[in-house]
Amino acid sequence: MRRITHWIDGVKSESTTERWGKVFNPATGQVQAEIPFATDAEIEQTIAVARRAAASWGSASLSARTEVMFSFRHLVHARRDEIASIITAEHGKVHADALGEISRGLENIEFACGLGSHLKGGFSSQVSNGVDVSSLRQPVGVVAGITPFNFPVMVPLWMTANALACGNAMILKPSEKDPSAALLLAELLAEAGLPAGVFNVLQGDGGTVGALLEHPGIDAVSFVGSTPIATSIYSRATAAGKRAQALGGAKNHMVVLPDADLDVAADAAVSAAYGSAGERCMAVSVVVAVGEIADPLVAAIAERMAKLVIGPGDDPASEMGPLITAEHRDKVASYVAGASAEGATVVVDGRDHTFTGDAAEGFFIGTSLIDNVAPGMKVYDEEIFGPVLSVARCDTYAEAIELVNANQYGNGVAIFTRDGGAARQFTFDVTCGMVGVNVPIPVPVATYSFGGWKDSLFGDAHMYGPAGIDFYTRAKVVTTRWPDPATSEVDLGFPKTR
Ligand code: NAD
Repeated sequence: MRRITHWIDGVKSESTTERWGKVFNPATGQVQAEIPFATDAEIEQTIAVARRAAASWGSASLSARTEVMFSFRHLVHARRDEIASIITAEHGKVHADALGEISRGLENIEFACGLGSHLKGGFSSQVSNGVDVSSLRQPVGVVAGITPFNFPVMVPLWMTANALACGNAMILKPSEKDPSAALLLAELLAEAGLPAGVFNVLQGDGGTVGALLEHPGIDAVSFVGSTPIATSIYSRATAAGKRAQALGGAKNHMVVLPDADLDVAADAAVSAAYGSAGERCMAVSVVVAVGEIADPLVAAIAERMAKLVIGPGDDPASEMGPLITAEHRDKVASYVAGASAEGATVVVDGRDHTFTGDAAEGFFIGTSLIDNVAPGMKVYDEEIFGPVLSVARCDTYAEAIELVNANQYGNGVAIFTRDGGAARQFTFDVTCGMVGVNVPIPVPVATYSFGGWKDSLFGDAHMYGPAGIDFYTRAKVVTTRWPDPATSEVDLGFPKTR
């Protein structure tokens, strides 16, 4: 059986642990590798290596750091097919979707290549007689990145590109369900010229994360994952005196006003709800149908669902792959099973979809559509994270906005309409961090930052883009006086500018 390694101090490092987990091929249900959960000694060693490396990398010139980012960008782009195949083998998503996440990850490396501009400080001349003030940003030190299974390349790149470019060392703890792509990223960073020890991959589970959170050698923690873990990580990391950002789960609504183009809205709902089997934090999980568009919209979505090809991610004909584990597939199925008893209408039941051959043992489930869903039902209140789309019906725009804003999550939201005024009002009214107007999955490009509101983000630091530069650096302000030697005099008073 293949054994996954760590990546410590610039090389693959075999674990001596006695605690091992399993990495499945979700399309066949077979175990394809074993993953180590780091020992205490391995955690200590990795932190010591990272601390040493941070000291010299943090003072490397901006041009040296930028050069590594350019080379890394080139290598990830050149090897994108190979990386996508690794993602598909362990996550299960179709190859095209894996390529899509790599291209969104590449954006973050490209952003980091502009480091010279991002780290420009400010300068104020002559704030007082003979006194100038300048500001600069310096690396925070050693950053721990803890990432979820659903984007094994894109989410690590959200963190890694800026963290490294800003001069930090990093320890990435990828999801134990699909850890291999992170190891290839580590190899490519080394090939790009990153000094040994600056980027490390430590394999593990929640216990490994706990050890990182409590260790004084970690300065900042970036987390992306589910809300219960995000809230716990944020409080534990900040209680231990670390800078922390923790992005959590979601329940993303797509509001469809009566004047929307029906075909455009139905296409968008299907691709945003069932793409990557609904295992996207920005997936649309609730369509809010306003007024008389509801019946034709539900019919148009159901018609499109029937045509979706579900199969192994490495089959070019497949449009949707399996879920990540059998347990997760069964949990998703339980929401569909309970929906009727909660008062909802199951329009399409994904559990009826049958799979044959190797796929019969894989973690597949068909797509589900559930109408007449409302708050108070589990299918509405909880994040399902699978190919289940709910429809909530509202009579007016005001009811729709009230529904969306009452939800505990506030990651992404979209409105579909031909009315510019209504769309504009929506962007003001809605309490979510990322808003799409006729765009179902409004993931910001890397020159902006990513982050939800409410229980979708703990802490106030959004991820990547300008917010990422701020998170991975500390600000310093320098006040300078070069006194005229002829008039130099001592003033014991409080510092003043006049
Ligand atoms: P998860 O919370 O189970 O795991 C995320 C990471 O936390 C993994 O590396 C895991 O090993 C670690 N972990 C698990 N249990 C832990 C514990 N008790 N203590 C400390 N660490 C622990 O999430 P997942 O199932 O891998 O990913 C899916 C979730 O991530 C969904 O809720 C999804 O919405 C969310 N997500 C959010 C975003 C976002 O940007 N907001 C992006 C992607 C995924």
